[in-house]
Amino acid sequence: MKQILNFINGEYVGNASGKTYEKRNPVDNSLIGMVHEAGQPEVDAAVAAARAALHGPWGKLSVVERCAMLDGLVAEINHRFDDFLQAEIADTGKPAHLASHIDIPRGAANFKIFTDTIKNVSTESFEMRTPDGKTARSYGVRTPRGVIAIICPWNLPLLLMTWKAGPALACGNTVVVKPSEATPSTATLLGEVMNKVGVPPGVYNVVNGFGTNSAGSFLTAHPGVNGVTFTGETKTGTAIMKAAADGIRPVSLELGGKNAAVVFADCDFDNAVNTVTRSVFENCGQVCLGTERVYVERPIFDKFVAALKVKAETMKPGRPFDPDTKIGPLVSKVHQKKVLSYYAKAKEEGATVVFGGGVPDMPDDLKDGCWVQPTIWTGLPETASVVREEIFGPCCHIQPFDTEEEAVRMANDTQYGLATSIYTQDIGRASRLATQIEVGLCWINSWFLRDLRTPFGGSKQSGIGREGGVHSLEFYTELRNVMIKY
Ligand code: NAD
Repeated sequence: MKQILNFINGEYVGNASGKTYEKRNPVDNSLIGMVHEAGQPEVDAAVAAARAALHGPWGKLSVVERCAMLDGLVAEINHRFDDFLQAEIADTGKPAHLASHIDIPRGAANFKIFTDTIKNVSTESFEMRTPDGKTARSYGVRTPRGVIAIICPWNLPLLLMTWKAGPALACGNTVVVKPSEATPSTATLLGEVMNKVGVPPGVYNVVNGFGTNSAGSFLTAHPGVNGVTFTGETKTGTAIMKAAADGIRPVSLELGGKNAAVVFADCDFDNAVNTVTRSVFENCGQVCLGTERVYVERPIFDKFVAALKVKAETMKPGRPFDPDTKIGPLVSKVHQKKVLSYYAKAKEEGATVVFGGGVPDMPDDLKDGCWVQPTIWTGLPETASVVREEIFGPCCHIQPFDTEEEAVRMANDTQYGLATSIYTQDIGRASRLATQIEVGLCWINSWFLRDLRTPFGGSKQSGIGREGGVHSLEFYTELRNVMIKY
């Protein structure tokens, strides 16, 4: 049986308690391996190793030397592409075409984008005259923040982890990563790559386990941690922010969403249908930026609903490496139960089920997997819980609107503010809505198109802070001012 261990100070280790839990494949519920849950002793050891590494060979590297080492990670991940692909797919069940085009290549590229950033960023400098007639020059210096705790979700496990480990390490910090309990494999495997390219022990550590009363809360509450960066649900972000308040540790929070797409009658119809299809169903709807509310201008409402239904009908569920597979399962039984509870609630609340609403009929060998049907609803009031709460499944509610003002009001009527996408040929209207809809990320006639130099993050209860390009440096470095008098 495969053992999924913790990675502490450059070595794979179990735990003092002997506590393990089963990791099962969401495609067919088969057992992948046993995960060794880190307790307080392992979290203490990981944080101590990370702190010691700050003052060891890692801390003495120049920026250029450090970046060369991290660029080596990209080559080594690509060299072991199939190992990462197999591990990610076994943990998540996602289709191979998705993981091989997004998860693994972007997971590797995240190191390169931030080594390029840190090598090319400048700091400000000012000169002034002093009262005694001398001169003083101030300049900024970016120093590492210290030991960074990285708490990750399960939807894009490697990609979202390196999105934080990449800039953290490029800036000279050391990290302790707590992957989601549902997806421990690729973060753990990355330890082998770190050792292979010569990243010193203690720079990158992984503690496996759960959140509350487990590795997650032990790590975020640890006094040896200098900053906590988190991606996950808003309610978990609240708990993490409270934990980080002790010791005044900064947080970077990328949280949940209930993202709206706004489709005007003058849009390029095929582009809008194709792009909304992706934004609702890709990764089985388990994308933080995904669309769960679609607002369509009334003259094209019926045509749009019918076209999206046709697309949903083509979403064939199946095994990850089957070339016909268009959609995978949800990540776990726990998540399947949650999504299905919303499917039931939608019916109770009086939705018209345009498509789906249940579990697809699967062959016997896949029946135990975490499958749900792609689902489209109409006819609910904006107060319905499936219109207000984040479901994180392959589903959306479609609502008609008559005026631009009404569309903006409905899009903004949420506690969340992560992302939106607007479909129209009227560029004036698009740019108006881009400022009026309260989000961190706005796409016009597109979705999920990313330039990694740009800021990424949510407003309202979708997060605090921006990461990406130079914006990541605000969190992963301390900006110190030096003044010289001469
Ligand atoms: P989650 O909040 O349940 O768990 C995320 C991580 O936090 C896991 O590793 C978990 O073990 C840990 N955790 C849970 N409780 C904790 C605690 N008290 N202290 C410390 N750690 C704790 O989220 P999830 O279900 O894994 O992921 C789905 C959520 O992530 C969705 O809400 C989605 O919108 C969000 N998400 C946001 C972004 C973004 O960029 N804004 C990206 C991806 C996912």
